[in-house]
Amino acid sequence: MLPVIALVGRPNVGKSTLFNRLTRSRDALVADLPGLTRDRKYGEGRLANEEQDYIVVDTGGITGDEQGIDYEMAKQSLQAVDEADVVLFIVDGRAGINPADEMIANYLRRSEKPFYLVVNKTDGLNPDIVVADFYELGFGQPFPIAASHGRGVTQLIEMVLEELPEPEEESQETMDEVEKSIKIAVVGRPNVGKSTLVNRMLGEDRVVVFDKAGTTRDSVYIPYVRDDKNYTLIDTAGVRRRKNITEAAEKFSIVKTLQAVNDAHVVVFVIDAREGVTEQDMHMLSFVIDTGRSLVIALNKWDGMNGEEKARVKEQVERKLEFAEFADMHFISALHGSNVGNMYDSVDEAYEYAMAKWSTSKLTRLLEDVVADHQPPMVKGRRIKLRYAHQGGSNPPIIVVHGNQTNALPGSYKRYLENKFISVLGIRGTPIRFEFKSSE
Ligand code: GDP
Ligand code: GDP
Repeated sequence: MLPVIALVGRPNVGKSTLFNRLTRSRDALVADLPGLTRDRKYGEGRLANEEQDYIVVDTGGITGDEQGIDYEMAKQSLQAVDEADVVLFIVDGRAGINPADEMIANYLRRSEKPFYLVVNKTDGLNPDIVVADFYELGFGQPFPIAASHGRGVTQLIEMVLEELPEPEEESQETMDEVEKSIKIAVVGRPNVGKSTLVNRMLGEDRVVVFDKAGTTRDSVYIPYVRDDKNYTLIDTAGVRRRKNITEAAEKFSIVKTLQAVNDAHVVVFVIDAREGVTEQDMHMLSFVIDTGRSLVIALNKWDGMNGEEKARVKEQVERKLEFAEFADMHFISALHGSNVGNMYDSVDEAYEYAMAKWSTSKLTRLLEDVVADHQPPMVKGRRIKLRYAHQGGSNPPIIVVHGNQTNALPGSYKRYLENKFISVLGIRGTPIRFEFKSSE
């Protein structure tokens, strides 16, 4: 499970600056969902060593004097703390301690989460002197950084990741069942029908659900067998555990969604066909695609729509979801069960291709054919040479192409090559990554 690091602090202390530095993204997933009025931003951490992925949550600012609706929103911001593994409590080294800092400190002390006190904006100042002011918050050794300059940020995050608490161990039996199965995450906006679909997928006649579900934090892992194949549904909404949770914001969690996607083999992305494809759908979907997971798209609530509405949605889907063209699409009714069983064919196929292995000789022969059909261009009087290809990984498949001057390969040629590989290998359901390596 991806660890979650929450950034907490009053406005203007530099949380967004730190967030952007950690995620290296301009494009955070913003939770503009009903019930989550205050902006919370989610991103995948990219700073620090390559192997350790993590999620960063910017909780939005808390001033401490919120009242009424603002108070509710501040409370929600602080609830993000509950989903985190560790909290970075950011203060402004130039402004000194502020009453809002003390309010947040009190909250964190009660929350029993591991936290670090981070003093930002120490650029141009003596960090030892700046930090001294903040000892009185009673959080031990404060950590000086300058988010806008990057000073201390890598060291901070490496320390935090190193000291992360060990995840809870699941029973070996459950984990074995999960590991030998196809892990499916059903994700999408609130109210699109995820819980209904999860229940429907598990409730089918041909499904035998094991009674031992594993819990990783709040997502429940439900192993089952269908037609002699092993699957595990990662149930982010907790449909099989809790009852009567009607409040969308309560059961929906972007953190859980991101973690489930990351841990899944195949993501079933659910869209409410009656609402069509929304901005938030597109945004979440591009996050899923970035993780490289296999994908099946379900247009849900297809029941009770008339022919004209269906045609309009189909047209819109084709236009807007072109970037997810590799994924099979199913028009389903989770409520009535129509077409739900068919999705398993797509899930199986997507999994198969995500995990497929191709030999170096097969990939190299394919590369030779593709190059013979259409040569790469000349650069500085010499033709770019592509010599051989091998597979560099699975889920998603990575194809590594070796040659000379490959960094001069134009994007159009790369796309030509990629499309040829995808169509000749017949890959469906999974994105595929290409890497080009040059020997000169
Ligand atoms: P947030 O409201 O906590 O998200 O704060 P922002 O990230 O928006 O930063 C508030 C202001 O502080 C902006 O003007 C930033 O440029 C500035 N800032 C952030 N980090 C640093 C830093 O390390 N040093 C200095 N001098 N300014 C910073
Ligand atoms: P979630 O928030 O994504 O888990 O969505 P739910 O499964 O809780 O469903 C939200 C609402 O949509 C509920 O009232 C469901 O009964 C309804 N719903 C779910 N699937 C369908 C469907 O296929 N057709 C129709 N008409 N309603 C559905």
